[in-house]
Amino acid sequence: MSKVVIRTESLCKSFGKLDVLKNISTEIYQGEVVAILGPSGSGKSTFLRCMNLLERPTRGRVYFHDIEITQPKVNIGKVRQQLVMVFQHFNLFPHLTVMENVTYAPMKVKGVNSQLAKQKGLELLAKVGLAQKADVYPAKLSGGQKQRVAIARALAMEPEMILFDEPTSALDPEMVKDVLLVMQALAQTGITMAIVTHEMGFAREVASRIMFLDQGTLAEDTTPSEFFHHPRCDRAQQFLEKML
Ligand code: ADP
Ligand code: MG
Repeated sequence: MSKVVIRTESLCKSFGKLDVLKNISTEIYQGEVVAILGPSGSGKSTFLRCMNLLERPTRGRVYFHDIEITQPKVNIGKVRQQLVMVFQHFNLFPHLTVMENVTYAPMKVKGVNSQLAKQKGLELLAKVGLAQKADVYPAKLSGGQKQRVAIARALAMEPEMILFDEPTSALDPEMVKDVLLVMQALAQTGITMAIVTHEMGFAREVASRIMFLDQGTLAEDTTPSEFFHHPRCDRAQQFLEKML
């Protein structure tokens, strides 16, 4: 039986009067690759961001393993080293080279020495197909290359789980595939992943589980084959008709 990595209990998030997440209770197990799907505005990013407390829930609890991270005393910086996020717009440090982007946090936050950090950085850049770009600045890279650097940077922290928020949505179509291939390879390593995406082919083929959000509720939580062949709720059916 796998371990639970993330558990939410009656998770609610409101922005003012807008109730964005409504009572989401679920858990994500070690090694799962969860695709979070749903219409724009359904709360996908907010849900993902609540998992590492980039957004603080209005009510309910979030656990990372046995630690309730919604407790005020928790060192959330420490938890976020294990629950790293990859963003739609990459968020690379523009004034640092690719290698410096990848080694920055391991050195600064984890105290890894620079030689080790670089060695590991080079391995990771090779993994995402960018070893030859180690010394260039992000401005010289395509969007797809930037996102692959962002993934290498996330991996450099040796996290337990990676949270991806629409990692390919800002990319030109011809760049999308390279990034998805890197993510697919990553999924096969057994690392736990939660991915907000509109890439239905990827969700169907790579995810082990689909969560479908509809107006802030977890309307479906099932396997890809169930979701894509027999979506239960009307909203999921409508969503799939539009997307496929
Ligand atoms: P999705 O990622 O599914 O498109 P989001 O989680 O980004 O949806 O947003 C859900 C709803 O919450 C939207 O109506 C959005 O406008 C609103 N929202 C998200 N973040 C904020 C915020 N920081 N302040 C106010 N409203 C927000
Ligand atoms: Mg979003």
